Amino acid sequence: MRINLFWRILISLLFIIGTITCLLKFWLEPVLFEFYLQRELQNLTSIVKVSSPMLAKEFRDNCSLKRIEELNQELSIKTNTLAIITIPNCGKSELENFDLTLYRNQTDLYNVLSGQSVAKVKSLNNDQTVTIYSAAPIFIDSTLIGAVQVESLITSFPNEISNEINRIYFILLLLSLFSIGFSFLFYRYYSGKLRNAINNLLELNEAKVRPETKIPSLSTNEIEQLEKTIKHSVVEIHKKFDSYSSDARVFTSILNNMNDGILVADQSGQVKLINNAAADFFSIEIQQAETHSLVEVLRNHIIEGVWQNCMETQKIQTIDTEINPQHRFIRCIATPLAPQLPGSVLLLFQDLTRIHQLEIIRQDFVSNVSHELRTPLASLKALVETLQDSTLQDPTAAKKFLESMDTEIDNMTQIVQELLELSKIESGRVPLEKRETTPDELLSKVAERMQLQVQRGKLNLIIDVQNKLPAIMVDINRIEQVLVNLVHNAIKFTFPGGKITLSAFQQNHEIIFSIEDTGIGIPPRDLERIFERFYKVDRARSEHGTGLGLSIARHLVEAHGGRIWAESVQTKGSTFFFSIPIISE
Ligand code: ADP
Repeated sequence: MRINLFWRILISLLFIIGTITCLLKFWLEPVLFEFYLQRELQNLTSIVKVSSPMLAKEFRDNCSLKRIEELNQELSIKTNTLAIITIPNCGKSELENFDLTLYRNQTDLYNVLSGQSVAKVKSLNNDQTVTIYSAAPIFIDSTLIGAVQVESLITSFPNEISNEINRIYFILLLLSLFSIGFSFLFYRYYSGKLRNAINNLLELNEAKVRPETKIPSLSTNEIEQLEKTIKHSVVEIHKKFDSYSSDARVFTSILNNMNDGILVADQSGQVKLINNAAADFFSIEIQQAETHSLVEVLRNHIIEGVWQNCMETQKIQTIDTEINPQHRFIRCIATPLAPQLPGSVLLLFQDLTRIHQLEIIRQDFVSNVSHELRTPLASLKALVETLQDSTLQDPTAAKKFLESMDTEIDNMTQIVQELLELSKIESGRVPLEKRETTPDELLSKVAERMQLQVQRGKLNLIIDVQNKLPAIMVDINRIEQVLVNLVHNAIKFTFPGGKITLSAFQQNHEIIFSIEDTGIGIPPRDLERIFERFYKVDRARSEHGTGLGLSIARHLVEAHGGRIWAESVQTKGSTFFFSIPIISE
């Protein structure tokens, strides 16, 4: 049973008062009573001692029973006792030499008549009263003639002592009442403060109490100490809490801002910790992951195998693999966390997708360059061999062969030049020399430059420029290069009699250039990829190209802050667009 502070204080005080009362009742009262009896006995003894010589004098000459009776009464009244004077030979000629055996049954009187003085508390009577008794022999000139006995009945303390004891009881009663009042006030005064202190302590668990929070002041020593302890604890716990929470914040923010994925699984395969990157790799919410098993989160038997191996061998395991659904290439490094966390394994996921793509691009690039150079080199080889075999003797044929060889060398030179150009543009080593010009001016110049090829292709070239277009700031040579590439392709992939339209118009804050042809068009699946290096829609059809022209054009347009894209309907024609921002430095 829980007793509150009020009852605790009250019970303690009442216990003390009860103990004092019991002591008073069962120890002090009997002691006092005994003391009182002894004092009364001494009084009786003094009475008999004083009475004895006086009685001897009285009976020296004459003794009568009547006189004894009178003296008994007189002494009883004077001393407020029961006095009995015994003179055995009273009325006889001589008072001494009486027959002592007659008193054998009365022990006390017998002893006194034998010459002894007796003083004693006689007995506790049935009615709880006490008789005290004192007796002394009566001597006439050292001859024993009788005895004087006095008895007094003591019923209780005399009034003055009783009053004192009652007063003490009354004071104790008052003290009890005072205790009740005091306990209540004490309880009212301190319980609130203690409750606050306890609440503060409870709130400490949740670190709601700040060190600056004013803890109510208490006063008794213990409570002051409690207050001091709480204040000290508040400061200490907060220091630790702040330091832990700041460490935890740093830890969480590092964890969640890492590009690498982190996942910790315990011995049973339960996910204990996962960061944003890892959750993203496996397309799962962090909260969801932390309530699931590793198998459910990963859904990848290769990584599960790595985790299993790591658990069994307690050695670091590494694997590169592709994960679904985003087809990312990741490296998974499993590290055992023993001895700190026995059985737990840290899985680190590094995204290798970009590196993997770059590797594929590099491999493609090497194979593309080899492929592009192999064709002219093979032609050259064949031409040289034919020349060596016979044709040298025939100067006309030899001249034709040499011209063919020259064309192949030109092809190879173009590939190498374009590759160099692309590499320069990609690495940002081509500074743009921007000057002001108009879209009209740019298109007219390009049309003029391409006029001969247009005529050769028996094509119709039209320029359609929106009126009053604003001037633009561009590197004129570079944008001309873009336009030439696009017009060149249009000429290349349009049958004789076809039409090529060069346009420019404003859209928002951009000038859009478009090169439209009525040529063979581009299949939709290739449209996205034609701006990649070496990409050709149909290698057989575009034998005389490097597949680098559109890639160069894209880099140059993007260097000007613009975009490039294409629309096409197969067999109907293609339109290439690129934009140049109007406001440029
Ligand atoms: P190439 O030097 O081979 O022309 P490009 O990068 O300029 O290289 O073009 C890439 C490919 O895009 C071409 O090989 C061709 O298949 C396709 N292409 C480009 N322009 C056109 C167009 N106007 N009509 C049809 N196909 C085109």
